[in-house]
Amino acid sequence: VELNDSKKLTDQDQEHLWHAMSRHTEGSSPMIAKSGEGSWFTDMDGNRYLDGVSGLWCLNLGHGRKEIAEAAAEQMMQLSYFPLTLSHAPAIKLSAKISELLGDSYKTFFSNSGSEANETAFKIARQYHNQNGNPGKYKFISRYRAYHGSTLGALSATAQANRRVKYDPGMPGFLHVPPPYSYRCPFGEDVKDCDKVAADMIDQVIQWEGAETVAAVIMEPFISGGGVIIPSPEYLQRVAQICKKHDILLIMDEVVSGFGRTGKMFGFMHSEGVQPDIVTMAKGLTSGYLPLGATAVHSRIYEKFKEQGTDNHFRHVSTYGGHPASCAVALKNIEIIERENIVSRVEVLGESILSSLKDLQTHKNVGEVRSAGFLYGIEMVEDKETKQPASDQLMAKIIALCKEKGLIIGRNGDTVPGFNNVLIIAPPLSSTEEDLKFVVKTVQRAFKEI
Ligand code: PMP
Repeated sequence: VELNDSKKLTDQDQEHLWHAMSRHTEGSSPMIAKSGEGSWFTDMDGNRYLDGVSGLWCLNLGHGRKEIAEAAAEQMMQLSYFPLTLSHAPAIKLSAKISELLGDSYKTFFSNSGSEANETAFKIARQYHNQNGNPGKYKFISRYRAYHGSTLGALSATAQANRRVKYDPGMPGFLHVPPPYSYRCPFGEDVKDCDKVAADMIDQVIQWEGAETVAAVIMEPFISGGGVIIPSPEYLQRVAQICKKHDILLIMDEVVSGFGRTGKMFGFMHSEGVQPDIVTMAKGLTSGYLPLGATAVHSRIYEKFKEQGTDNHFRHVSTYGGHPASCAVALKNIEIIERENIVSRVEVLGESILSSLKDLQTHKNVGEVRSAGFLYGIEMVEDKETKQPASDQLMAKIIALCKEKGLIIGRNGDTVPGFNNVLIIAPPLSSTEEDLKFVVKTVQRAFKEI
């Protein structure tokens, strides 16, 4: 097949390549990307699009960063592969950098993806309690609407319709609690303090289950894949206190929100005083240039492993986890994020440009616009009064209208069948001001047409 032959590639794609989902281009033929530059990519037919969802919210620094490609090439030539059963400089330096960024002493275990980073966290949490003399603490609590990955453990923590309908039963010991979703508060429409009630519900569930059986609570600081749900900073503070009270570990899934997406280096940093026991990362860790997952474990937790002598007491090997080239890429990525002040840039431009998207709130089909930094969710409804979720047709239409105008946006929220009604906008963090204005203008134009 000629690499430039769009028709042949499309045919072969249909015949041989199994895709995960193709929501971003619903209703049209698969989009085959050929090249990228900054926040933009070009497809096989020469059409240019702004990637308004950063790939799968990972391409934080955009396409074509030569420095990152060079860091990978240099590392591959110097030491092409080495396992972390032994050690190498890029992984050592990266683990030290992660600890610095997290603002406390952490020990990091590397893997290849966000799912794996969470699997690693679950095993560490169980073994921690085991070694701490509490072998009965094995359950995990996550929230409905959460997405934590595709492997069986991470999928069991994921509480979305697709998991339940297609792959149940999940692993034993995974429990789910209602999210702090004020727009459709799970505790009743008139509940004023939905976040607080949602946090207290976690306390209740822990007591009903028996704190002596619960290992950890896992959550994203802001639910991303389940419809962009942004609780108040106090919610996480309250959850952290509840976990502490019951000797339950708090695992922060920073796979999406880490490395600047929400206007802080990590999402949990919006909640002053919260210092998670375990932080999981992937995506933005390398801006998507190479695969890498990381599970950072607070030294107070790692102490229990250290007492046993060596790291080997954690029985978890990953052949490619912490690949030298991936670590070199992550280091370069973080260097650029710091040098270009990406985090404060997101905070400032999120407010000054993207926040115009909030004006869409007056549109008849917009229930609520929720945001943090460069992470936007527009909850679409058929009717503002009844809050009936927007139809599939309406969602597909607006996505198609944006695509027609050169902007790729996404949708999610599918915790219950029929609820897939949140438009996702999450452009690369390095997008120029012009790029961001294009995003806003294009979405506004699409809304005018529906
Ligand atoms: N956690 C969150 C919050 C995610 O959004 C994702 C991926 N979308 C994952 C974990 C899993 O990451 P990966 O696809 O790299 O396994």
